[in-house]
Amino acid sequence: MRLSRFFLPILKENPKEAEIVSHRLMLRAGMMRQEAAGIYAWLPLGFRVLKKIEQIVREEQDRAGAIELLMPTLQLADLWRESGRYDAYGPEMLRISDRHKRELLYGPTNEEMITEIFRAYVKSYKNLPLNLYHIQWKFRDEQRPRFGVMRGREFLMKDAYSFDLNEAAARVSYNKMFVAYLRTFARMGLKAIPMRAETGPIGGDLSHEFIVLAETGESGVYCNRDVLELPVPGEDVDYDGDLTPVIKQWTSLYAATEDVHDAARFEREVPEDKRVHTRGIEVGQIFYFGTKYSDSMKALVAGPDGVEVPIHGGSYGVGVSRLVGAIIEACHDDAGIKWPESVAPFTAVILNLKQGDEAVDAACEKLYRDFKAKGVDVLYDDTDQRAGAKFAAADLIGIPWQIMVGPKGLSEGKVEIKRRSDGSRETMSPADAVARLAG
Ligand code: ATP
Ligand code: MG
Repeated sequence: MRLSRFFLPILKENPKEAEIVSHRLMLRAGMMRQEAAGIYAWLPLGFRVLKKIEQIVREEQDRAGAIELLMPTLQLADLWRESGRYDAYGPEMLRISDRHKRELLYGPTNEEMITEIFRAYVKSYKNLPLNLYHIQWKFRDEQRPRFGVMRGREFLMKDAYSFDLNEAAARVSYNKMFVAYLRTFARMGLKAIPMRAETGPIGGDLSHEFIVLAETGESGVYCNRDVLELPVPGEDVDYDGDLTPVIKQWTSLYAATEDVHDAARFEREVPEDKRVHTRGIEVGQIFYFGTKYSDSMKALVAGPDGVEVPIHGGSYGVGVSRLVGAIIEACHDDAGIKWPESVAPFTAVILNLKQGDEAVDAACEKLYRDFKAKGVDVLYDDTDQRAGAKFAAADLIGIPWQIMVGPKGLSEGKVEIKRRSDGSRETMSPADAVARLAG
């Protein structure tokens, strides 16, 4: 992508409305634009990151055996009356009526709809276990939308729903999602700690929130420092094998959100020098809720003995759009964003330090072609800006690798590569630069 042809409306000034660094940097880097309170348009740079995050979430759900579908954003109110949640949900639910005065709502979550789909088709335990997910926009009319995409009203969520014959099987499904979440967030360069959590309006008795530690987070959390060092299962994780050792390892050390925090237990179990009390960002939450929806909505399957029983369910959410902000909170410095490579909008940016110089232009064009030929996602800053402005913009938008091409280096056949994450620099030939990033 040539920057001269791209749409990247960078802001020079710090936007006054932004209270936290991720919100400020997303606005300054031209990633998104507020259209109404808590409702954002995703501009091209932000959209690229959103899609990268979404794809990592998808790959890890698929790997864990969940199956993707897509449910609509609008749902019938009657469906929610069946579960009793139409009235229980309160003012966070955006209620709409159509031209025939039928009551609809913009879904804040999809337990009811997925249960309706499930009960229409699945009648036998032989079709279980089943885990269905989608990645779809949600709407919650939050009292206080703030911090940009971190607490929006319209936001993108991955929500998965598991169906099992009994509690033991449902816990296996829960464990698979637990491990998939560890992998998902680690792939994005995040340390997200599973913490015991309140179940809230979803209901049920078992739940973990996945929390990225950050001073700007909205949740108070308590944990044992050692959880920060626990290993995340690799790509070879066997989801059909026994995952309980991993779950045990991750849940035996104290980690809880403030709603369920038990001060006495914290002090008993965690040595003083290991006690962490800080804040965090909830990037995902998983629930086991038993027969809450299958009882009220009659989602029954015939067991091996032919007797119909309500299925045991769980639901598993990831805040896909919130993650864009959470990753920035975790990965930035004074100059701007430092994207982990896995979610970066581009892998590399070529900075032409003397636009209009024949040799420099030619070298940049060749680099640009060679990177593209090798499949490297590259942005080419071919604008008329001064070198200083190009450096600043590149640091702000956080592309992991900057390739600086200027007359001085080129006279020796070299370009300079800067790694955004640690600021380290190296000089090498353009061909070596291509080989380095294509590897
Ligand atoms: P919170 O406690 O932050 O309001 P929640 O517990 O109500 O979130 P869940 O129902 O667990 O949210 O939704 C799953 C995930 O969706 C959350 O873990 C979070 O990452 C994300 N999410 C929830 N509400 C919002 C929001 N208003 N804006 C952006 N992301 C959100
Ligand atoms: Mg939650």
